[in-house]
Amino acid sequence: MPPTDGLPPLRAVIEAHGLAPKKSLGQNFLLDLNLTGRIARQALPLDRATVVEVGPGPGGLTRALLAEGARKVVAIEKDPRCIAALKEIAARFPGRLDILSADALDVDFTALSGGGPVKIVANLPYNVGTQLLLDWLTPAIWPPVWESLTLMFQKEVAERIVAAPGTNHYGRLSVLAGWRARAKILFDVSPAAFTPPPKVTSSIVQLTPNPAPEPAALDKLEKVTAAAFGQRRKMLRQSLKPLGGEALLTSVGIDPQRRAETLSVSEFVRLANAV
Ligand code: SAM
Repeated sequence: MPPTDGLPPLRAVIEAHGLAPKKSLGQNFLLDLNLTGRIARQALPLDRATVVEVGPGPGGLTRALLAEGARKVVAIEKDPRCIAALKEIAARFPGRLDILSADALDVDFTALSGGGPVKIVANLPYNVGTQLLLDWLTPAIWPPVWESLTLMFQKEVAERIVAAPGTNHYGRLSVLAGWRARAKILFDVSPAAFTPPPKVTSSIVQLTPNPAPEPAALDKLEKVTAAAFGQRRKMLRQSLKPLGGEALLTSVGIDPQRRAETLSVSEFVRLANAV
């Protein structure tokens, strides 16, 4: 059963506040509180951390997070039209919902925590989702402020995040995510669950930080993966030529005839440290 929080159904909220979905803001809303409840429960327990939600929109997931016991939700929304609707939720849950009218790409997530742990939960706008994930995986200090990320992505992006070496989806994003975190796909969400429906299936991905990633300089790791996957069908001795090619590869014991998609995260780290 969806939570009975005493607030109007989401369709009524959207109508009352004139929240016609905008494509430019990646607005595909979830109106089914059973589904938003299921997403919120993936991040339980919610009472020991600050829950940060990016892109609450009309507040379906926000309401579920509060109903599932979030002590404090900080909701960051770029669309000023949504703020009044979110304020109604804040009034229903006094002291438990802070609303930030901002572009999430400009927000310092470390500063939001008040010193405690953070759980980030979001049905992400597709146009900024990957950039936000990259930012969360590469903060100035590791381990990061977040103890889990529970995020909706297009299924194809989710598959790239969790991909293992030797598979089609394995690429730069998989290496970075595999280096810094443990990532898994929890379940898929069909286009029909959204208003309006997107063209593709979505997936909920959960990441938890790797407390001790193998030491590597981020800029070098990015350089190596960019070169290797930039020409993923070529042998590494060719794709990594500008970085040292065959000599670099043999210096760290990697066969120069291998291709990028066969290298483990550890092997990429070894290469980054040798560049
Ligand atoms: N959480 C709501 C739900 O599940 O129904 C809405 C999800 S909708 C896919 C994405 C939301 O992110 C929209 O409300 C949109 O206005 C907001 N948004 C888009 N770009 C943003 C940005 N750069 N910073 C913060 N919010 C953004």
